[in-house]
Amino acid sequence: MLKYEVGDIITLKKGHPCGENKWEILRTGVDIKLKCLGCDRQIWLTRIEFEKRVRKILVGEKWISIVHYKGKDHDHTEE
Ligand SMILES: [Zn+2]
Repeated sequence: MLKYEVGDIITLKKGHPCGENKWEILRTGVDIKLKCLGCDRQIWLTRIEFEKRVRKILVGEKWISIVHYKGKDHDHTEE
């Protein structure tokens, strides 16, 4: 079960060389596609690599540490 959704904004352990460290999730699945919000460059990470590198996620206007994040729908029953 993936707790990340397309459109989520996240930060990684290391920012992009352009200086930005905000990424939008464009695709989820076995591989995760991310877009740097600084320069619009797109990268692919394997899901495992992504899970290792992701640090925080933007929920509303708050950055939530990924260790505390259970997914937006964690209060609801599984579909
Ligand atoms: Zn960039």
